[in-house]
Amino acid sequence: MSGSQQNPTEAWYRAKREEMVRTQLVARGIHDPSVLRAMQEVPRQRFVPEMIRNEAYDDSPLVIGYHQTISQPFIVAYMLEQLHLNSTERVLEIGLGSGYQAAVLSRIVHEVYALEIIPELAKLASQTLRELGFANVHTDCRNGWEGWREHAPFDAIIVAAAAERLPETLLDQLAEGGRMILPIGDSRTSQVLRFLQKKAGSVIEQTGIAVMFVPLIDPRE
Ligand code: SAH
Repeated sequence: MSGSQQNPTEAWYRAKREEMVRTQLVARGIHDPSVLRAMQEVPRQRFVPEMIRNEAYDDSPLVIGYHQTISQPFIVAYMLEQLHLNSTERVLEIGLGSGYQAAVLSRIVHEVYALEIIPELAKLASQTLRELGFANVHTDCRNGWEGWREHAPFDAIIVAAAAERLPETLLDQLAEGGRMILPIGDSRTSQVLRFLQKKAGSVIEQTGIAVMFVPLIDPRE
């Protein structure tokens, strides 16, 4: 499928990206124009290890080192579409990883705040984002369970790692009208996506599709 090119050109990657958007996203019901446009623009191959760049547009998650993965393109699109984001909003991402999802987010919203607990990944992702000019992504290396109080409240929060229970602190950092999406469940088996919205002082909850994420590390355990 994708491993056939030795040194792919930018045009080859662009064609692969177009095919990914068409066959993995549009064909499966993703229709938010801002999500489709962002995923059409962000060069996913720049966020994966050089050795596997050819596979950047495969319909699967990919390893990024330190036992972590970059999510399958469809899962990124699905989670972002669920949040109904707009260009004036400020969003917190927990689990920066490679920086790919933060880059996609940065093309949809006003400001992105992204936390990563593994220092090497935080450093590499920040460098990639800087090199590619994603200037509205702010990153820090810290424990996502605690959110990023200095920049709260957020219009939306997206968690890219699985927790067994809802991190209450994150909910506290969500603005009125704010939305949050996260995988909840056992990281050794599978989880479900949980969607929450703060409305008039209460929290509305919905459960979505089954997913498989790496665990949200809890440094206190
Ligand atoms: N969004 C990423 C993929 C995330 S993989 C991308 O687009 O590439 C999940 C990431 O969450 C991993 O990099 C992992 O190190 C990080 N992570 C796990 N527990 C965390 C925590 N408590 N705080 C912040 N980041 C965490």
